Amino acid sequence: MATPAQARVDLAAIRQNVALLKERAGGAELMGAVKADAYGHGLVPCSAAVLEGGASRLGTAFVREALELRAGGVTAPILAWLITPGEPLDEALAQDVELSAADDRLLDEIAAAARRTGRTAKLHLEADTGMSRGGSPLAAWPGLLARALELRAEGVIEIIGLWSHFACADIPGHPSIEQQLEAFQTALKLAEQAGAAGSHVIRHISNSAATMTLPEARYDLVRPGIAMYGLSPIPELGDFGLRPAMTLTAQVGLAKRVPEGAGVSYAHLYVTDRETTLGLVPLGYADGILRHATGRAEVLAGGRRRLITGRVCMDQFMIDMGDDPLAAGDEVVLFGPGDGGEPTVQEWADTLGTITHEIVTRIGARVPRVYEGRA
Ligand SMILES: *Cc1c(COP(=O)(O)O)cnc(C)c1O
Repeated sequence: MATPAQARVDLAAIRQNVALLKERAGGAELMGAVKADAYGHGLVPCSAAVLEGGASRLGTAFVREALELRAGGVTAPILAWLITPGEPLDEALAQDVELSAADDRLLDEIAAAARRTGRTAKLHLEADTGMSRGGSPLAAWPGLLARALELRAEGVIEIIGLWSHFACADIPGHPSIEQQLEAFQTALKLAEQAGAAGSHVIRHISNSAATMTLPEARYDLVRPGIAMYGLSPIPELGDFGLRPAMTLTAQVGLAKRVPEGAGVSYAHLYVTDRETTLGLVPLGYADGILRHATGRAEVLAGGRRRLITGRVCMDQFMIDMGDDPLAAGDEVVLFGPGDGGEPTVQEWADTLGTITHEIVTRIGARVPRVYEGRA
């Protein structure tokens, strides 16, 4: 079926990227970060590819994402690490979703769910080693460990992981990296002294950037996200041999000749300086094509790069083809691996002053994901 636009997702590329990361991880396990609909690539199909590529676990932000994976038939261990009051914890425990906790309030809420359901909650305790986002500050860490040990003694929880997250792993040499590693060591030592560590407890702190550049931070498991989708975690250091998985294309909806002096799209930010052919591309800011891309980002059409001309609208934008041929139904490539001369997601991110994560996660629900390279 023809659709106005589609995001083709190369599952073989995802498998290959995960295998490359697994190699980088040495002997450590790999938990694939598949939050936000697998960074916009599609949760269940991509998670299957991530597991096929060598991941043994999956990580999501929210419990609902983990439950969606279970509903999709995924049986691998899943950790949900961003839990706010009132989440469906009973269901999470019933579906064997592992949970993260960083304060007594959440520990107690999880314990209550465990008592209600008769399930033992599998917990990863999060230490704030210097990002000041999630995690228990080190000053509160001994108290958190003590409360967790009480609940463990009661039999309602099991401590299966100790973890943290880097703030600046994508800035090689940033002084906070060393400081966070030291703080993590301290947190692990305190856990060991308290009797909350041990060989069965998984220690983890590395995102994609750390997996690529900090072998000393692998511990028992790495948690890459962006690199699995083939996008570089540290663009300044190149592509690390990763292959971008997503190609965003659209069909030209209308092609027409317009005279010189035609004002194009809202506010007439672009005015033709000659008679020319304009093409209408059926993707807009509601689909994640940032309005800020107006007059900045490029697409591939008719074998050449074309600038987005005139303002990006909610559902569409225009391109100026000059005298090159264009017809309704012709394919326009917004970004892809770059093989055919199309821009990459990295180019879009650089042009728009953002990171690739934001470009791919914003591609909206109206754009169907079409999967290629199934195992
Ligand atoms: C998103 C996320 C990751 C993966 O980060 P990338 O930079 O995409 O590799 C790992 N851990 C946590 C806690 C995250 O939120």
